[in-house]
Amino acid sequence: MNTQDMKRHIRAHLAYWVPMLGLAGWSVTILWHRPEGVGRNRVAAVCLPQPAVATVEIAFDLRAMTTRGYSDRQTEETVVHELLHAVIVGGSERATNTVAHVLVELRRRPPHQWEEAA
Ligand SMILES: [Zn+2]
Repeated sequence: MNTQDMKRHIRAHLAYWVPMLGLAGWSVTILWHRPEGVGRNRVAAVCLPQPAVATVEIAFDLRAMTTRGYSDRQTEETVVHELLHAVIVGGSERATNTVAHVLVELRRRPPHQWEEAA
């Protein structure tokens, strides 16, 4: 994926997950590079949530993500992870990673046959 494809995928995942995670009424601002001095060097994205005013700012390091060859699934988990920081403020990185992984896994899992039969 080049950076333009990456942007398109991130926007599509945001369109699905922002309302799904109860953030539809929030002001969500996206930056396409990591602000100077924010976050560790190796992180793909950072999140600055302000729940008191229903505002969240997320910065994706597009260049880092494309350089590391992020798949669409990794990109989606990154989007969900950062949004979860606005939902579960103060949650550990481990908990946030686990929940992001499970949510993306469930979304992508094909339906069971007994669910399709309805
Ligand atoms: Zn995190």
